[in-house]
Amino acid sequence: MHCPFCKHPDSRVVDSRTTDDGTSIRRRRQCPDCGRRFTTVETASLMVIKRSGVTEPFSRSKVIAGVRKACQGRPVTEDALAQLGQRVEEAVRATGSAELSTHDVGLAILGPLQDLDLVAYLRFASVYRAFDSLEDFETAITELREQLPPTTPGGLDEDLGVPAPAAAAD
Ligand SMILES: [Zn+2]
Repeated sequence: MHCPFCKHPDSRVVDSRTTDDGTSIRRRRQCPDCGRRFTTVETASLMVIKRSGVTEPFSRSKVIAGVRKACQGRPVTEDALAQLGQRVEEAVRATGSAELSTHDVGLAILGPLQDLDLVAYLRFASVYRAFDSLEDFETAITELREQLPPTTPGGLDEDLGVPAPAAAAD
């Protein structure tokens, strides 16, 4: 490939190693003309099949853009979004599939997003799990409550501004 510094049309591989997770190869290259070094990363191409049937390469930045929308107004940093994007990409690559649907990608986002921000998670889940009624939200919130310790400071109830349900009378 072309040298990214001087555009010389050739480069020499000086080192090549597989990453720890085995999903990519990093090559250290040197330009024979200007002598500068650069790194390339080789990964298996991962295609995403959209609902329309069109396929496009998996894009971490598209994942992050979608999640950023769900995180609007939430205390979520760009760093945290970048980490989430990385976790999602690792998860979908770890499936070993060469092709995924947008739905599979959405499902892979849910776990990391739940760890990041519960309100953003509910917004996102409402789309990907096709919530169409208040009951669907209630079910999802109940699921989350069951996973959370009973007294989470700044937890879901506070964030959503809804009162906690009265204890079941049994
Ligand atoms: Zn060069």
